[in-house]
Amino acid sequence: MTAQILEPGAVLGVLGGGQLGALFAGAARRLGYRVAVWDPDRDAPAHQLAAYSFTAPFLDVETRERFSHTVQAVTYEWENIPADLCEWLELRHPVRPSASVLRIIQDRVQQKRFLETHNLPVAPFAVIESPDQLPHAIQAIGNPALCKTARAGYDGKGQWLIQDPGDADQVSRELHAGTRDGQRWILEQVVAFERELSVLVVSGLNGEYRTYPPVDNRHEHGILRLTLAPTSLSAEAAAHVSNLAVQAVSALNSPGVFCVEFFHTADGQLFINEIAPRPHNSGHYTLDAATVSQFEQQVRVLCGLPIGEVKLVRAAAMVNLIGDEVGAVTAGSGYSDLMAIPGAQLHLYGKRTIKAGRKMGHVTFLAEERSAAEERALWLMKQLSERSVSAHAGERVSVKKTEPRNV
Ligand code: ATP
Ligand code: MG
Repeated sequence: MTAQILEPGAVLGVLGGGQLGALFAGAARRLGYRVAVWDPDRDAPAHQLAAYSFTAPFLDVETRERFSHTVQAVTYEWENIPADLCEWLELRHPVRPSASVLRIIQDRVQQKRFLETHNLPVAPFAVIESPDQLPHAIQAIGNPALCKTARAGYDGKGQWLIQDPGDADQVSRELHAGTRDGQRWILEQVVAFERELSVLVVSGLNGEYRTYPPVDNRHEHGILRLTLAPTSLSAEAAAHVSNLAVQAVSALNSPGVFCVEFFHTADGQLFINEIAPRPHNSGHYTLDAATVSQFEQQVRVLCGLPIGEVKLVRAAAMVNLIGDEVGAVTAGSGYSDLMAIPGAQLHLYGKRTIKAGRKMGHVTFLAEERSAAEERALWLMKQLSERSVSAHAGERVSVKKTEPRNV
């Protein structure tokens, strides 16, 4: 049986209206679809591109009905959407990726166990069901270790770095203070990686998988800073990374766009850090450097269309604009200097409020050679650190606590 194809004019629903939802909406609109955005934040960027906007809390049942009557298929832009809502919608419409995938991925404990069950490599971890179990977990895992809330973390939020067992008391107290019913945590061994990589995998309706080339990522303070495409890893090692990514995504057994994040150590070991069931920040370069962007693939899969041909047209380096850095490249000489650089593509997300650590936009530099793109990206990063007031001043402490976003 061929799956039903949604044709231009159909209404596609997206849960979550941040930059990922907005970039999905942009891709959908270009192909002639209308988009219904549901995000309780009225200022969420995707509302600006929506044919239909819903701003009630996700648990509002009346809005659930109206949303369901409006859309013909549903996707989501981040994993902290209530899985119950997706399950309910799935009884009425295609939801891609499926609600069962969301359930696995939105809980770090379930996700790690899932990967382990499928013999996929993950760093040693322990599950913490109550803050009192932290010292025992540190004993089992060793240190340094990262304690992460099982749910609702993003951009490194909801994480505590434990440098030595002496940190356990303070972190334990903080876990106690913020504990909600049924909350749990995961303690992960800190991997001394040489590089971080990620692979976008598009999973089609007929069991077909297509990958984008692996890319190299650099994070600062738990937030993605720079992505370089393609990876500088050897072709053989890159093929291995891609294979593992497809194995992980095929185990999830659902159509959709996924991103698999990896740690690669100096001695060649690979660990899966996590999987995102959606387009990913490290795939933003595909908007400008690939034949088909990760967002168009999301639209294609949602509409039952063939997966687009994946080809990297140019090498690329993507730099995130975080917090007040955005001011440095949107005003005065910073703006004209940036716009004068050949191959510089500026994307601003239209967020009204600048907050420390908030992703406000990104710049992708395109070039024939990766080294040239990287050089321009490093130039921008230098400008950003010189021109903007640091968004992270005073943040480097041994025990770092950041709040997860509540939905
Ligand atoms: P995002 O949603 O932006 O991917 P997140 O909040 O889900 O972030 P993680 O991916 O778990 O957080 O962690 C963010 C970054 O912190 C990683 O990309 C990596 O740089 C570092 N990190 C996380 N876990 C580990 C680990 N076990 N060992 C070493 N570094 C780690
Ligand atoms: Mg991550």
